[in-house]
Amino acid sequence: MYDCIIVGAGPAGLTAAIYLARAAYRVLLVEALGVGGQVARTHEIDNFPGYPEGIAGVDLAYHMQQQAERFGAELSYDEVVSVDKQGKGFLVTTSTKHYHSHTVIIASGCSPRKLNVSGEERLYGKGVSYCAICDGAFYRGKRVAVIGGGDSAVKESIYLANLVSEVILIHRRQELRAEPYLVERAKKLANLRFLWNQRVTEILGNQRVSGLRLEDVSTQTCQILHADGVFIYIGMVPNTGFLSHLKLTTKHGYLVTDERMVTSVPGLFAVGDVRHKALRQITTAVGDGATAAHSVMDYLLHRGEESDHEYRTTATTT
Ligand code: NAP
Repeated sequence: MYDCIIVGAGPAGLTAAIYLARAAYRVLLVEALGVGGQVARTHEIDNFPGYPEGIAGVDLAYHMQQQAERFGAELSYDEVVSVDKQGKGFLVTTSTKHYHSHTVIIASGCSPRKLNVSGEERLYGKGVSYCAICDGAFYRGKRVAVIGGGDSAVKESIYLANLVSEVILIHRRQELRAEPYLVERAKKLANLRFLWNQRVTEILGNQRVSGLRLEDVSTQTCQILHADGVFIYIGMVPNTGFLSHLKLTTKHGYLVTDERMVTSVPGLFAVGDVRHKALRQITTAVGDGATAAHSVMDYLLHRGEESDHEYRTTATTT
């Protein structure tokens, strides 16, 4: 029986694990892919306090993992398929095991949104990628397209421009939503070109990606662009499918909590990008993790004295 099972080992889940394990609670982190989540797939983090020169995402994730493990948090690589209330605790079912816990923190983050165009699924891993840091090195000396107009698309275009011969950043509007300092850096790169007002209608290629079919959103004219690879950065979708039976999400799939990370199910908490909130950054994920850990401790302390309803009333009003 764990005191807390944390689903997802990104910055939010790892921070909650650090706080709980350090306070001598028995904690299990369950992670389906790799520790760090999206952070580990980001080549450079330069807005996380304490690293004036920036830090590689994979290094930051590794430091957080080491810190959680130093305090005794356990880590299991497995996929959680459901979380169910069982008495006053929880049954967490993974693809291989059942675990029992007094509390659960959902820190499952988000996955890359798909374009949902012809060729995308068929050519995934054959030129279609959602991770520049994982796959960029395969395109040295080649031309790649990046789709999107947010921080991720621009940041990863800058990363790719260091590796490949040419990056073409394709956006469906004429204005990027990425932070201005990133846009300025991108615009200075000689081998990074922007294509505005273009919608991808098809990813082309037989065995591998050979190009893209594009449609101009204002004139509806079509063109074919040659590219050896395509990196898709058009936002994220929350990983909450395994909780759908609990009906805790917004219509977009994000988990609703109060400011103490408390969901409407007593003992169940949510943190990080999977949570309905205004700003999804590593800093805010870390803050969520610390807050949730405190709420878990409070819940475990008061569980015997108050009914769950009374706990929630306390939790939402203090
Ligand atoms: P995002 O900010 O939601 O941007 C998604 C981009 O993809 C938008 O430009 C959007 O176009 C475009 N898009 C969405 N659906 C599309 C479709 N079907 N076809 C073509 N284009 C489509 O996502 P993100 O860049 O992944 O960032 C997610 C969050 O992480 C943001 O809060 C961001 O600030 C944060 N982040 C921060 C950093 C950092 O270094 N500070 C780095 C990465 C991410 P429109 O603009 O037309 O809507």
